[in-house]
Amino acid sequence: MAVIITDLCINCDACLQNCPVHAIVDDSKNPVTNTRYYVQPEKCVECVDIFDDPQCAAICPSIGCITWDMPYTKEYDAHYLNDALYKLCDKDNILKSPAIKEKKYRTDIPLSMRGVGKEVQVEP
Ligand code: SF4
Ligand code: SF4
Repeated sequence: MAVIITDLCINCDACLQNCPVHAIVDDSKNPVTNTRYYVQPEKCVECVDIFDDPQCAAICPSIGCITWDMPYTKEYDAHYLNDALYKLCDKDNILKSPAIKEKKYRTDIPLSMRGVGKEVQVEP
């Protein structure tokens, strides 16, 4: 990861249809809240090596809905184990947290631009 979807989500389904790695689930499958779509951080690769920009943000009609989160790396393991934000998939009863398996992230996005509320999109 990662990007995180905020409460500005209008559940339009566009991002889910465009994610190249099928990292997004709809509100009915969101493990944290049923009011918005959810990006599975253990699957998101920030579209690295696939597209120039995160495709979810490129297609999302609700500005401010898609925000950067921290890199999915072991330094941020505790962040991704925060149940209020994420519920990670487990395999053989081992949570796929960053300490187990890191994911690609955009190295050109500085940490100062990451965190819930740090928008990926820009106003047109
Ligand atoms: S940034 Fe890319 S890989 Fe991650 S959820 Fe969005 S579309 Fe999927
Ligand atoms: S494209 Fe944006 S508004 Fe539509 S479901 Fe995805 S995050 Fe929500």
